[in-house]
Amino acid sequence: MIAIMMESFQVTWPPFYTVKKSTRSKRVRLSIHPHTGLTIHLPHNPRQPVDIDALLLEKKAWILKHSALLEQAHKKEAAVLPQSLLLSAIDETWTVDPMQNCAKPTLFAAAGFRLVLMDKELNTDRALLLLHRWLKKKGTQHLIPWLTELSQRHQLPFNNVSVRNQKTLWGSCSSTKNIQLNYKMLFLPKALAEHILLHELSHIKHLNHSRSFWRLLCSLDPHCHEHNKALKTIESKVPAWLY
Ligand SMILES: [Zn+2]
Repeated sequence: MIAIMMESFQVTWPPFYTVKKSTRSKRVRLSIHPHTGLTIHLPHNPRQPVDIDALLLEKKAWILKHSALLEQAHKKEAAVLPQSLLLSAIDETWTVDPMQNCAKPTLFAAAGFRLVLMDKELNTDRALLLLHRWLKKKGTQHLIPWLTELSQRHQLPFNNVSVRNQKTLWGSCSSTKNIQLNYKMLFLPKALAEHILLHELSHIKHLNHSRSFWRLLCSLDPHCHEHNKALKTIESKVPAWLY
């Protein structure tokens, strides 16, 4: 399996902060806001010098918790209807074309890579749900033949494969050789999507991340370490509304 690095939930440490001195502050106080980030409020003339590093460490749990909550709220806010879907892994770009219509909510693919969305109220949540369903179908159509071709080429037969939207994994492979793939990988560069497929296929032989596993994976993907590293920072390529 390959975990999706939830970059946004891992606040960099030490965190970025600004210091504000105020005559009104009687004591040291921290605050976190969506636009200004972490602020350390200090009294104008503190009785003793404030050790910022020690303060950050002491409040680490609070800072991490509140930064994560803020990020989650931000992602929810980000749920607007996308204008296009850039499916780099399969070299397709689709425009999303909403139409206010008295039909029941429908999404269909039209000529010229157009996804027509019909709904009488153009409700964003409903539209996103339809897009998710379409992506699952698209993922099934493209990722399964791709995996099958690689599996045959490298003689790594799997038992079954399914495509879904896992929250935290790009893919996984069970001891019964059942592979699950995340359709979010459609948004990744082709080489990285293929790296994920090869990673899961390597688990057919090695159900762990041992040296033998990496030896096999690197024999299939000569840029395996580079690709693995790139996957750790690639989350930004996947649109926020997909989470
Ligand atoms: Zn793995």
